[in-house]
Amino acid sequence: MLRPMDLIAALEGVVGSDRVRAHPLDRRVFAKDAGVKDGPVAAVVFPESAEETAGCVRVARAAGVPVVPRGAGTGLAGGAVPIEPSVMVVMTRMNRIVEVDEQSRTAWVGPGVINLDLSRDLASTGLHFAPDPSSQQSCTIGGNVGTNAGGPHCLAEGTTVAHILAVEMVTADGDIVIVGGDHPDPVGLDLRAVVVGSEGTMGVTTRVLVKLTENPPAVRTLLIGFATVEDAAATVSEVIASGLVPAALEMMDRAMVRAVENYVHAGYPTDAAAVLLAEVAGHAVGVDAEADMIARIAADNDATMVRLAQNDAERALLWKGRKSAFGAIAQSAPDYYLHDTVVPRTRLVEVLSQIYEIGERYGIALLNVFHAGDGNLHPLVSFDAAVPGELDRVMAAATEMVRVSIEAGGSLSGEHGIGMEKRDLMGLVFGPDDLDAQARLREAFDPDGVLNPGKILPEGSRCFDRAPTIGAAP
Ligand SMILES: Cc1cc2nc3c(=O)[nH]c(=O)nc-3n(C[C@H](O)[C@H](O)[C@H](O)COP(=O)(O)OP(=O)(O)OC[C@H]3O[C@@H](n4cnc5c(N)ncnc54)[C@H](O)[C@@H]3O)c2cc1C
Repeated sequence: MLRPMDLIAALEGVVGSDRVRAHPLDRRVFAKDAGVKDGPVAAVVFPESAEETAGCVRVARAAGVPVVPRGAGTGLAGGAVPIEPSVMVVMTRMNRIVEVDEQSRTAWVGPGVINLDLSRDLASTGLHFAPDPSSQQSCTIGGNVGTNAGGPHCLAEGTTVAHILAVEMVTADGDIVIVGGDHPDPVGLDLRAVVVGSEGTMGVTTRVLVKLTENPPAVRTLLIGFATVEDAAATVSEVIASGLVPAALEMMDRAMVRAVENYVHAGYPTDAAAVLLAEVAGHAVGVDAEADMIARIAADNDATMVRLAQNDAERALLWKGRKSAFGAIAQSAPDYYLHDTVVPRTRLVEVLSQIYEIGERYGIALLNVFHAGDGNLHPLVSFDAAVPGELDRVMAAATEMVRVSIEAGGSLSGEHGIGMEKRDLMGLVFGPDDLDAQARLREAFDPDGVLNPGKILPEGSRCFDRAPTIGAAP
């Protein structure tokens, strides 16, 4: 075991003194992600290569201190928040697009590459990286892999796991390994799919082989207003039931539309009870027919307005509104808590009305913006954490909202992950045997609980607590 100063010195020995931080202010900055909780940081380190990352993991392990991998810290489930004094391994300096293969439509990228930067960099090739979380201007590809991130366009394209061929990572022992490969269907166990979404508990990602997607030749974007949330939800169900798979189908309620409009002036109808942002992509003839079909279904469900974006600028403005939704909330209160559950699309209306009822009962300011096409709800509570008892009230309401989603046949998380935020709710969807099986899988990668301990699995799972062997040589 190393003393704290020895730990810092040993980390400096790996990456140099300018890339290790232990000042209380730095420790505070890296103690939190974009969620509501924080935790204790022993040191912050910024490796620039897989070898340096491996060196940091070995040092932390020898010191008996856990490692928490971190990207941009935009996670909303506390995945990058330590639960005990930890070495924060921040991957943002490994932000190089290493190699693009236009022929095979793949690219090796560093984990610190910002999601949107990758697609911007590829603009001249006519390709892009399909997962597009609303945080894409700041979140990293490593973080997307960590959380199996989704986004508005994942309705048609699938979440991050569908766009990752291989992951190079540093194991809990400090070895550098690659899971997956450049073949789309490699032989053997698909460990790539185990690692994607494992929230930093199975390895520290140091390089990713991503699939690139061709930009669609034509895109149509519709803004549709409704007098009731029920009409909007019925439109979503009917569009999906028609067999059409829109590129995106997003919904916002009145409170959110007003907040966004006041912030971005995207031209959203502030008198609507709900709006849908629907997008279809493909060949020109097809997209016109599909846009017509969505407009017809909306009209059948009493849409009060349907507007087709006339050009790229208009389309970009409509999306800017949607993707700025969480920023818009800062106008009303200093803090927000964003939920993430999934419900069957056919039960959207029922669950939404239960969620509004919970919000009213707890007296909280509730806004809704979500990926309606795949039933991924994001009730958002705007509040002031400085008011005593406010955070507890918000969290109690959150737990009830999760419960009603699960009772409707839904799931704990659509895209933000489990982290520390929902780990104690895992028992709502998994029995003890399921949890034990997941713990055993995790122990196969990290028997001593070096990597991001205390995340995903609830207390009492086999590997919740670190085994006493941490600190021993691998
Ligand atoms: C305004 C806003 C909008 C958002 N919209 C969406 C959305 O539409 N869809 C969506 O899915 N999410 C969304 N998110 C959540 C968040 O942006 C995503 O989860 C994103 O993938 C996190 O990336 P990050 O780089 O910030 O990762 P971090 O927050 O730093 O880490 C997230 C998790 O990944 C692990 N991790 C990070 N890097 C590595 C690595 N190199 N190796 C191993 N593990 C690693 C961490 O340990 C942690 O468990 C949003 C967040 C905000 C603030």
